[in-house]
Order: sequence, then C-alpha cells, then structure tokens
Amino acid sequence: MTRDPDEPARVLVVEDDDGNRRLVRTFFEREGFRVEEAADGPGALRAVANDDIDLVVLDLGLPGLDGLDVLASIRRRSDVAVLVLTGRVDEHERVQGLDAGADDYVVKPYSLAELAARARALLRRGQSRPAVDDRLEFGELVIDLAAARASSNGGRLDLAPKEFTLLAFLAGEEGRTFSREELLHHVWGSTSHWQDPATVTEHVRRVRHKLDRVGYGQCIETVRGFGYRFAMSEEARTATA
Ligand code: CA
Repeated sequence: MTRDPDEPARVLVVEDDDGNRRLVRTFFEREGFRVEEAADGPGALRAVANDDIDLVVLDLGLPGLDGLDVLASIRRRSDVAVLVLTGRVDEHERVQGLDAGADDYVVKPYSLAELAARARALLRRGQSRPAVDDRLEFGELVIDLAAARASSNGGRLDLAPKEFTLLAFLAGEEGRTFSREELLHHVWGSTSHWQDPATVTEHVRRVRHKLDRVGYGQCIETVRGFGYRFAMSEEARTATA
C-alpha cells in the first residue's frame, strides 16, 4: 500500500500494558505519527482490517492470543509492515517472529527513540518498494541485483549464488549488524533448525576473500559477539582501484 508522503504515517500500537502503550503513543505522536491503539490480539486484527494502517508495532507478550498467532493472523489478511517488540532474549523466538512475517524487531528494554527510528526505516522501505533500485554502488563496487552479479572497476567478481545473495543482503542493509542465525534466515531462508551457523562463517570468509582481491575485503566487518555487517568507509568509497 502506498501512502501520500504528506500524510502522517498511521501506526497501530498493540500492547496490553496501558502505561507502556500510552508512553509509545505519546512519543510517536510527538514524532509526527498518527497513532491507533489496541490492547489485545482481536483488537489488533479489527484495526488492521478496518483502518488504513501503515505500520503495526506489535508486542509479542500479549494475554490470551499469543503475539506470534496475532502476527500470523495479520499476515493472512494484510501485508502491512510489522515491527515486533520482544522481551525474549532467545534468538530462536526472534527468528520465529521473522518467520511468522515480522519485518523487523526491537528487543526490550528499548529506547523510544530507537523504536521510532526503526519504525521510520520500515516505512521508508515500504515506500521505496515499488521503485526498488536494482543496483547498489559503493565506490567502484557495483552489486547488480537484477543480473545477480557483482563487479569492481568493471571486472566481475566470481561469486557463487549464495555468496552473491549474502553480499547483496548485507550491502542492502548497510551499517546494520546481523547475527549468523538471522543471516541463515534471510539469506538461506532457514529457521536455523537444520542449518549450521558455521555455514555463514564459511560464506563470509569466501566473500571477503573475493572482495579482498579488488580491495574491498574490509567491507564485511565482524561485530564481535554478535555477527556481521556491511560498512564502507568514506575512504574506500571514494578510492579508485
Ligand atoms: Ca505486553
């Protein structure tokens, strides 16, 4: 669904805790969003069905109907952007949320500023979806999504299909860190029950090695204890190989 960019985005906040819900509402309104509220799953489903909602902020900790079930129900009737709030530190639960159709998640405790920033990023993504850019360019490094090939200075990088997908995914989310489990989910489409996270480590190693040959080996950074991210320094971006 595309929205008039001059209209404030409509956010549905689904949270059973009245105090928390109001806190989020007040903050989001101050940030320029229009806010609807729901205190439970059925209320959320009604709002999604009846109102023109751009983004759902869904707390997974709901009474009665479990948050993941609510998410699945929303997904059956709408492709609205969903940002999940989870207090569960277990990676598995987060991956489950993504599997059930969440577009992103924020782990509690979170700051309201972070929540609003994530919400804005999702809304931007939603808006740019129809006119998605099929080329990512970082200095001399070009990632051609349509042709599924990467090149540097016109020379093609010899990447295997999964290596390309991994690079394209990380580069498309420049600056954001993903754990190996999340990368299994996004790149391999796996719920990580049957895929070994070491697969990711090995693919990262190979992609880095191939990028290294054209001077871009540093682009895939290891974030110790968490995962990987694509980041290109201004220096590398403007350097010509
Ligand atoms: Ca709650």
